[in-house]
Amino acid sequence: MSIQILPTDTLFRDSPDAGHPQCLCSRCGKKLEEWHHPIRAWPEKQNAEYRFHLACIGLGKDRTKEEWEAENEAFYDDIDFP
Ligand SMILES: [Zn+2]
Repeated sequence: MSIQILPTDTLFRDSPDAGHPQCLCSRCGKKLEEWHHPIRAWPEKQNAEYRFHLACIGLGKDRTKEEWEAENEAFYDDIDFP
């Protein structure tokens, strides 16, 4: 997988968790939610990162919160807890 970084992409000096109010997409500038599973990329020799929605870098469609919750439920339904 390779990501084409554009000159207009924002390079962030912080690295908040997805869902944090400051966790914004380098490309569209909108918030990255936990269910978006953001893609992060680190330029060499820099203490900084780019982060993206899947859809913003052409890697598919972003999950909605409802889809994410349904996936989690299905995942836990599959586990037999002792
Ligand atoms: Zn985005």
